[in-house]
Amino acid sequence: MTGRIHSYESLGALDGPGLRYIVFMQGCPLSCGCCHNPDTRKMDGGEEISAGELYKRIEKYRPYFGTDGGVTASGGEPLCQADFLYELFSLCRAGGITTCLDTSGCITGTAVDKLLDITDTVLLDIKYSNEDDYQSYTGMKYSAVIDFLELLEKKGVRTVLRRVIVPGLNDSDSDRDNLTALAKKYSCVYKVELLPFKKLCEEKYERLGIPFPFGHIPEADPNAVRKEEETIMHELDK
Ligand code: SF4
Repeated sequence: MTGRIHSYESLGALDGPGLRYIVFMQGCPLSCGCCHNPDTRKMDGGEEISAGELYKRIEKYRPYFGTDGGVTASGGEPLCQADFLYELFSLCRAGGITTCLDTSGCITGTAVDKLLDITDTVLLDIKYSNEDDYQSYTGMKYSAVIDFLELLEKKGVRTVLRRVIVPGLNDSDSDRDNLTALAKKYSCVYKVELLPFKKLCEEKYERLGIPFPFGHIPEADPNAVRKEEETIMHELDK
């Protein structure tokens, strides 16, 4: 079958273990205020490509992957194309290339279940700490992302919890405590990554002619965010 791809990054070091071929999937049902890829959200855009053809492109980079690297499906929301990714990840698994999903966890069901069974690592965005904020700033339920985390635990998928830190919205002590508690509770979680909210995407919103919902919010201080992450990881001792 074919999938819809927004774009590629041949060797990324920020989305999953080691050096990875990043596939940005087209389409996302959410509308996060902090979204830095608003151009990936449209369901019907992007390049159409078969799983076999995409695998051939990925395979060319195998010498750079080492033992940790591989392929990461990001987006957009990769779970929107779970059947296609199942085909791609099956080829990767057969070829000895590790697989990673960068997801909001907003979709479940049989296709996602099958996909998770052949996924080595999941980067799960836990964007906020409560139902109200989740509903207001993403269009998705907090309970849904917790259900997804439960599923990862049940399947024993290695998981990184990620959060984009948005000043004034999710950077309080109680937000940090909430994330730390989740990372402690679920044994599938081996790492927490905090990313500073940035506004490099403003130009994309202008090009698309849509308002940037968080355009009025200042960028997060990368040093402060890194320290917060260190504090959490120190507390976890994972
Ligand atoms: S889940 Fe990701 S791609 Fe989708 S709207 Fe949110 S930030 Fe954007």
